[in-house]
Amino acid sequence: MKVAKNTVVSIAYTLKDAEGNVLDAAEAAEPLAYLHGVGNLIAGMEKALDDRDSGESFEVIIPPEEGYGKFDDDLVWELDKEQFGELSDVELGTQFVLETEEEQVLVTVVEIKDDVVVVDGNHELADETLYFEITVVDVRDATPEELDHGHAHGPGGAHDHDHG
Ligand code: ZN
Repeated sequence: MKVAKNTVVSIAYTLKDAEGNVLDAAEAAEPLAYLHGVGNLIAGMEKALDDRDSGESFEVIIPPEEGYGKFDDDLVWELDKEQFGELSDVELGTQFVLETEEEQVLVTVVEIKDDVVVVDGNHELADETLYFEITVVDVRDATPEELDHGHAHGPGGAHDHDHG
């Protein structure tokens, strides 16, 4: 069966950066399952997977624009250290949700200075060109429930949320 909109696709993959470091991977024994065509994966990956057959293996290089985006300076904030009050456990790498006037952004503490804490809301893979090796392990039709939820269920899918 071929990958098309509203199919559930199981993939094994290895993701490397330009230097060949492995950033992420899923093995064929425990593939990632996702609902195709609704933006659950980064754009470049869905585009590369479209119309592939189950069993097919291929490599694809995805630029930041179709991956996790270009690094955006507007997503870096310097916060007054006093704002953290008694949160004395703020350290490099701490993540929390920052509420700005427009949105909620997951940020990471990237620098701690005397008076300010610098936080970064860019994805950790922003600006990265992504080198994927992908194998299509399985393709099947989505169930009505999966279409309703907008994601895949079952092994490798979004099984960690409340269906109540
Ligand atoms: Zn669901």
